[in-house]
Amino acid sequence: MSVPQGVKYAIIGAGVHGLSTAFHLAQKLKAAGRGSGADILVVDKTGVGAGASGIACGVVRNNYFQPAMRELMAHSVEVWESDPKAYSYHPVGYMQISPESMHADVASIYEQQKAIGYESTFVEGADDSMRYMRGLFDDWQAQGITSVLHEKRGGYANNQASMRGLAAKAQEEGVRILSGVEVKSFEFGSNSGAVTALNTNQGRIACDTVVVGVGPWVNKIWNLLELPKKITVKSNGKVRDDVPMWKFWCLEEGTLGVDPHMHRTNDGRFPPVLHVDTDAPLYSDRDRKLITDKIWGIYYKPDFNFGGVQGGASPYKVEQDPDQVAVDPYGPESPEFVVGEDFIEMWCSALAHCQKRFEGQMPLYKRDENSGGLGCFTPDNFPVFDRFRENVYVIADSNHGYKMIGVGKLVAQELVGETSMLLEPFRFARFAKGELHPTSHSPFPWS
Ligand SMILES: Cc1cc2nc3c(=O)[nH]c(=O)nc-3n(C[C@H](O)[C@H](O)[C@H](O)COP(=O)(O)OP(=O)(O)OC[C@H]3O[C@@H](n4cnc5c(N)ncnc54)[C@H](O)[C@@H]3O)c2cc1C
Repeated sequence: MSVPQGVKYAIIGAGVHGLSTAFHLAQKLKAAGRGSGADILVVDKTGVGAGASGIACGVVRNNYFQPAMRELMAHSVEVWESDPKAYSYHPVGYMQISPESMHADVASIYEQQKAIGYESTFVEGADDSMRYMRGLFDDWQAQGITSVLHEKRGGYANNQASMRGLAAKAQEEGVRILSGVEVKSFEFGSNSGAVTALNTNQGRIACDTVVVGVGPWVNKIWNLLELPKKITVKSNGKVRDDVPMWKFWCLEEGTLGVDPHMHRTNDGRFPPVLHVDTDAPLYSDRDRKLITDKIWGIYYKPDFNFGGVQGGASPYKVEQDPDQVAVDPYGPESPEFVVGEDFIEMWCSALAHCQKRFEGQMPLYKRDENSGGLGCFTPDNFPVFDRFRENVYVIADSNHGYKMIGVGKLVAQELVGETSMLLEPFRFARFAKGELHPTSHSPFPWS
């Protein structure tokens, strides 16, 4: 394989962010008469969709406690809706079903969704919540629920198909995508700190601008860029020094091997993606033993792509030094970061807690397919979209990002010199300035 000796824009990573940036940048350059897709090269050490984007559950939602995240998601949902076929997008909607400890947070999400014109219904109170849920599913039985937020937009998309759709769009604009090209190091200018070339396993590529969209490999590329491993974080008036820039969490997801048609609404439609958090005790659907009496959460949807009812539960924190975490082999190939029996029992029991149709179905869980995978998170668990070393744009989504297909469009805008107000709250300087995003009462680090 031959790599070009030089390109204007080198994008590292053919996941959702690298591909979306490539496609939208090509369009921007053409529209402005400043170039075309031929100026853009995407390199991936494996290939299109080889990272988190290719294994993601694919949920697309707006439900975020943080106003800046919500506005960004509303923008991304518009991009999903712009071409549902190419992006393999299913606009079935999304529901956040919550206990009292999350009531006020979700109420404020609803108010702000109204303010930005994002259509949703909010139901409050235990009885009304049960009535609303039984109106959709007559076997609904989840306990401890006192509010339901029903987002009418959003839904889910099929991971690999959407990445192929995005890659095809970029290629139609003239973008080159090279698989099997791994960036091993960077060359920096002698006077400025800017990157002048990528050194890859297939040769050197000189470049004017670099975009980094490497998902869970961001810690590695960050180190190669010689960016700080530890940073200062100001929050609630306190200053903490030497906070590790990156940490890993392992996402736990899996599939119940039932006919996806079994999970429909009372009127026979495919349901919204359901996300249920509750503090009701969770008992095993196998032997009734107590699994937890602390707040827990799950999400699920019928999905023909996964061949069943697919979803997940809260991730767990990987306590190792980030430099020691084995990101490769990634996802289902990993011997270490895939789900085990604890997840299977918890998630299947939680499904049965929510809906009677899932009682006794645990034996149908797809044990023969590995699932789950690593995500790399920032100190406040929210994304960093920013420029480093003058000409390197890092898209580090802190594992929020399959749904964020629109971020590449905004990054493309910034690459041609137009600042995006939607991306402003995600600059690296927020850690030192203490301008962190508010945290919610959700059991998930990404809500
Ligand atoms: C199990 C799981 C489920 C998830 N579910 C959802 C969900 O339902 N909804 C949601 O919004 N988000 C979800 N996420 C998060 C989401 O998948 C990620 O945030 C997002 O896909 C990251 O996209 P990316 O483009 O940054 O990186 P990736 O998709 O990981 O792509 C990075 C690419 O970079 C390449 N690469 C890495 N290093 C190099 C190098 N040195 N040289 C060349 N190429 C390199 C890799 O091969 C890879 O293809 C999930 C994540 C996981 C792990």
